[in-house]
Amino acid sequence: MDCIFCKIAAGQIPAKLVHEDAEVVAFRDINPVAPTHILIIPREHIETVNDLEPGQAGMVGKLHLVARELARAEGLSERGYRLILNCGPEAGQAVFHIHLHLIGGRKMAWPPG
Ligand code: 5GP
Ligand code: ZN
Repeated sequence: MDCIFCKIAAGQIPAKLVHEDAEVVAFRDINPVAPTHILIIPREHIETVNDLEPGQAGMVGKLHLVARELARAEGLSERGYRLILNCGPEAGQAVFHIHLHLIGGRKMAWPPG
């Protein structure tokens, strides 16, 4: 399968990994938009949130628990951070393997652009 995030999860192309377990992998974004910008992905190839099924609820929860731990490790728990999961064209999804962005280390605006 020609999916860049599947290849990162399989170790076939390099990335700065910050977490790895049986279900979830996390690595630093190649083009960070803040001092901390980490992508948290399931090993399983799922294209978008629209493709999620009820049996994957545990994995979706796990993405957030990994985000919580990484935010703590980055010193962001108290300062605050943002978790973003883009879905589809108007959200600007560019890689069609779901990924939770963990972004922090600077003050952010609301609403997002
Ligand atoms: P999206 O817009 O799909 O939510 O975000 C895709 C993210 O993946 C972008 O922030 C982009 O910088 C990042 N990205 C794309 N290709 C690579 C890559 O090969 N390695 C890493 N580490 N990040 C990537
Ligand atoms: Zn994939």
